[in-house]
Amino acid sequence: MRIYDPHIHMTSRTTDDYARMYSAGVRAVTEPAFWLGQPRTNVGSFCDYFDSLLGWERFRAAQYGIKHHCTIALNPKEANDPRCVEVLELLPRYLAKDGVVAVGEVGFDSMTDDEEKVFARQLELAGEHDLPVLVHTPHRDKAAGTRRTLELVAASGLPPERVLVDHLNETTVAMVADSGCWMGFSVYPDTKMDEHRMVRILADRGLERMIVNSAADWGHSDPLKTVATGRAMLEHGFTAADVDRVLWQNPVDFYGQSGRLLLDDDTTATGPTATFEGNSVLRGQRPSGQED
Ligand SMILES: [Zn+2]
Repeated sequence: MRIYDPHIHMTSRTTDDYARMYSAGVRAVTEPAFWLGQPRTNVGSFCDYFDSLLGWERFRAAQYGIKHHCTIALNPKEANDPRCVEVLELLPRYLAKDGVVAVGEVGFDSMTDDEEKVFARQLELAGEHDLPVLVHTPHRDKAAGTRRTLELVAASGLPPERVLVDHLNETTVAMVADSGCWMGFSVYPDTKMDEHRMVRILADRGLERMIVNSAADWGHSDPLKTVATGRAMLEHGFTAADVDRVLWQNPVDFYGQSGRLLLDDDTTATGPTATFEGNSVLRGQRPSGQED
């Protein structure tokens, strides 16, 4: 089973997670820029974060044989904070970089006017930079949030096949299917969507434009939920080719619209002794057996 996790916040995960993901078949990820839990107080804080998604995190993933891409945006939650909104001016610089495969995650958190303004501006940026968009739907009042999301996407004039609407469930999937946008599902350990509900949705609606992710982050989550979904699909009677379509080909097709996937680069894992700007995952220790 080869897996592309199209939405995972590896910054919040350990190097051991990378090793476990690789042994389970994960070979590529997309890490959307998001909220860190601790509120940011200035724009510089975003710059360091975006730089680390493009630099350190891609480097760390590569050592474990995993291709790391990212999406860049002002996240919906911090769109409400006037100290953060200025980062919109800096986004064009980041949206031009290699390995940035979409604008995201954008969308609604609490459905405020400020969120809507920032969301609409970032849809415009996606058009200006010819990039796909990853849209987060709110965890509360999901149906209303998804409906308003689709209205804004339609008003933006972006082609629906360049928009992935994420964190869907049984109540929101139909309206997104009808819109022509891609449908994203985050499979969590014990709340929201689980792998068995996911398989029922795939059995009911087919595999076209379907995307499954772990959305693993600093909260209760599991970076191997993509793998669990693949196994549940096989148990349900889906073929290995079906699993490959959902867990590999679909994310490659969606993010491939950016023209910036890094999948053809050398896939050799470099190992934990490699360094990035002088730092390794060994935190300054020497690899065992090596002397001064
Ligand atoms: Zn996320």
